[in-house]
Amino acid sequence: MAPKHDDTSSTLAFLEGSRSGIRYDADELRSTDPADGRTLLARYDLEAARGRLTRDVIAVRRGGLWRWEELLPVRRRSFITTLGEGSTPLLPPARLARKLGLSGLHIKAESVNPTGSFKARGMAVAVSRAAELGAAHLVAPSAGNAAGALAAYAAAAGIHATVVMPADAPAANQLEVLACGARLILLDGLISDCGKLARLLGEKTGAFDMATLREPYRVEGKKTLGFELAEDFGWSLPEAVVYPTGGGTGMIGMWKAFEELEALGLIGPARPRMYAVQSDGCAPIVRAFEQGAEFADPWLNAKTRAAGIRVPSALGDHLILDCLRRSGGGAIAVPEAEIEAMQVYAAEHGAGYLCLESAAALAALPVMREQGLIDRDERVALFDTGAGFKSEPPSMKRPAVVPNDPSAWLDLISALD
Ligand SMILES: *Cc1c(COP(=O)(O)O)cnc(C)c1O
Repeated sequence: MAPKHDDTSSTLAFLEGSRSGIRYDADELRSTDPADGRTLLARYDLEAARGRLTRDVIAVRRGGLWRWEELLPVRRRSFITTLGEGSTPLLPPARLARKLGLSGLHIKAESVNPTGSFKARGMAVAVSRAAELGAAHLVAPSAGNAAGALAAYAAAAGIHATVVMPADAPAANQLEVLACGARLILLDGLISDCGKLARLLGEKTGAFDMATLREPYRVEGKKTLGFELAEDFGWSLPEAVVYPTGGGTGMIGMWKAFEELEALGLIGPARPRMYAVQSDGCAPIVRAFEQGAEFADPWLNAKTRAAGIRVPSALGDHLILDCLRRSGGGAIAVPEAEIEAMQVYAAEHGAGYLCLESAAALAALPVMREQGLIDRDERVALFDTGAGFKSEPPSMKRPAVVPNDPSAWLDLISALD
C-alpha cells in the first residue's frame, strides 16, 4: 500500500460483549458492555484479514507490534502513537533453565519495551485508538506500570492524562507519571478505591476511563504477545505458558490472539496449557479456579510486593478462568516470601534483574515440576513483564562505604573473599 496513504489495513468489524454476545458499533468511544458492565472485545473480519496477513507478509514487515495492523483497531496511520513497543526477544535463560531442570524454558523479554514493562503494548494501542475516536483526556487507576505507560503514551499523543494511584505505589511509577506531565492523584486507599475515584472523575469531567478491561483496546495491544509467541516459536505454540496474572489482560489477549491466528490459518488448533500465577497474598483467580467457580470473589486484605499482580478483583475474571480451563492449564499461588528470593536467584543465574511479578512466575516452576504440571523437556514460555528497577527494591544489605583513602585500599582488597 502507498506510504502516503493514511489507511491502515485494520479489519476491525464490531465490538462484542464478552458475556452478552451483543454487538456494538466499534467506531464510537465505548467503555464496557451497557448490558452487563462486562468487557467489550474487538472482533475483526478475519476472512478479509486471511488473504492479506500471511507468514511471508509478516516476515518482511518492519519490527514492532504495528506490523499486525490488520488485526489491530486503529484505522488511520496518523493516529498511531508509538514509542517502539513490541518485537521483543524470546530468550533461553540457559543457566537458570538448567538449575530449574527445564530445558525448554523461554523468557520473553518484555522489560525492553518502552516504559520498562509490557503495559506499553496495551497502552500504545488503546491510547492511539482513543485519540482516533476523539478522546481529549484519559484517566486510569494504577498501582504500578500502567500509570507510567498511560502517561508516556498520552504525552506522545498530545492528550491529557490523569492517573489515580494508591499512595503506597512504587515511587518509580509515581515519578514516571509526573515526569511525563500527567496529573497524579495519590489516594489513601486500595487500587479498587482508585478505580472508583477514576470512574467518578470520568463521569464528572468527560475523561475517558482506561482502566484494565473497562475499554476494549488494551487487550488488543496485549494480544500481540500471543502473535509474537507464535512467530517466535516458528508458528507452533509452546506446550505451556506461565503468566503472572493481575487483571489478566495479557492472558485474555493471548488466548484471543491464538483464536485469530487459527482463523487466519497461521497456526493449527493446538494450544498451550495456560497457567496463571499469583502471590499467596492476593490469589483470587487461584482460589476461584480451585473452587471451580465461574467468577472470582474479591480477595480481602490483598498483600504482595509485586504491585502488578496486586489485583484483588478483576473485571475479566470469567475470561481468565475460562481460558485456564479450556486450555487444560491451571492456577498457582506462590508464597510471597519466595517471590523476592526468586528475583535474586534468577538474576544470579543469569536471567537478568527481573521485576517481582516475573519472579513470581518463575517461583511457580519448581512447584509445577513437582506436581507434574510441566515436563522437563516441554517448551515453556514465561514473561519478563517488567524491569527489576520498576519494582520495590529487594531488601538486600548494601556494603559499607570505603573511605577515599588509597592507603586503606590494599587492606580492603586483601580482605575481599
Ligand atoms: C500489570 C502487570 C502484570 C499483570 O498483567 P495483567 O495482564 O494485568 O494480568 C504483571 N507484571 C507486571 C510488571 C505488570 O505491570
